[in-house]
Amino acid sequence: QEQLSNRINNLATSQTLAMAAKARELRAEGKDIIGLSLGEPDFNTPDFIKEAAIQAINDDYNSYTPVDGYVELKDAIINKFKRDNQLTYDRSQIVVSTGAKQSLANVAMVLLNPGDEVILPCPYWVSYAEIVKLAEGTPVEVPTSVETDFKMTPEQLEAAITPKTKMIWYSSPCNPSGMVYSKEELRGLADVLKKHPDIIVVSDEIYEHINFVGDHASMAQFEDMYDRVVTVNGVSKAFAMTGWRIGYIGAPAWIARACNKMQGQITSGANCIAQRAVITALEAPVSKISYMIDTFKSRRKLVNDLLNDIEGFVTTDPEGAFYVFPNISHFFGKTIKGHKIENATDFSMLLLEEALVATVTGDAFGSPNCIRLSYAASESQIEEALKRIKTVLTEV
Ligand code: PLP
Repeated sequence: QEQLSNRINNLATSQTLAMAAKARELRAEGKDIIGLSLGEPDFNTPDFIKEAAIQAINDDYNSYTPVDGYVELKDAIINKFKRDNQLTYDRSQIVVSTGAKQSLANVAMVLLNPGDEVILPCPYWVSYAEIVKLAEGTPVEVPTSVETDFKMTPEQLEAAITPKTKMIWYSSPCNPSGMVYSKEELRGLADVLKKHPDIIVVSDEIYEHINFVGDHASMAQFEDMYDRVVTVNGVSKAFAMTGWRIGYIGAPAWIARACNKMQGQITSGANCIAQRAVITALEAPVSKISYMIDTFKSRRKLVNDLLNDIEGFVTTDPEGAFYVFPNISHFFGKTIKGHKIENATDFSMLLLEEALVATVTGDAFGSPNCIRLSYAASESQIEEALKRIKTVLTEV
């Protein structure tokens, strides 16, 4: 163990996975745990996509793939960007990777030098800070709160910029807050960035289709930003394809070229069968997956109504993704069922051990006053989970 590198020793363990491990342990003891901690749709991959994968196997797609993706997949991505986002990319600007997570890691590895700063509006997706640190960059957290709908203001962005700022990373729709930036709000941030032409924007749009408020806006849609935005997307969430591991970027060609070079030395091209299936997924009209989005929408209402019925939870009405991110600081300093609650991690543990409901502490996302509940679970599980939580918190 002493031989392990500083790199791995300094890497935080994923708190979502830590919570999942604890929940597994309790399940093994026979406890009926309801999992509201996972960032994964509870749907199966749609049949028309599965059939494309079976076809690809039978068609003998089994060789190494081009490092940056099959040309047919790149073309499907180009058409998708045009159809859904009015963004024009050519093949030299697209890189397909083994999940959007690899897309993000590539971008960090090819752009960051030691000490370069990456602005992360909080709450941010767990892996952003660790990926940045792995690439020897420095995460710079910008706190937001439930009162401002978890949105970073242009003033906050301006204040966070230093001569070392290299990039800003955010997801919209946001994991974990469900926040969605409108086009006007993105324009406000872009106006600040205009004054700092060397800063690159990483816009993670993986929850694009899981949006309950209307049009999805992309930073790259602004002509004066297009040349310095990396648009990250993938099929894990909206297409219920987490295990297939396909993500992609649309980016300035010089960044795409560098990502291609990086990936060529680490993983090579993404899985052949998954890539063929994703061609079919992206070519299909979005209406083919809308049944999942409609379901998330009705669950969102259910979970929020039930949460608002419990004193001490302060919520926003999430506009996208499949999470709610209530502020639970009301409970700090209290002792509930023998558990002293000092922070969100204690609170999340209380819910796991006493209500048998798995959630994730906001600490994992840079927002220590909140917890994340995923509503990628059935209505009956959501109802039962919130009933149990209410009982634990009200029968002190
Ligand atoms: N970006 C965000 C905001 C996510 O929530 C996730 C998955 O949880 C990812 C990226 C990674 O997605 P993929 O499964 O494509 O690696």
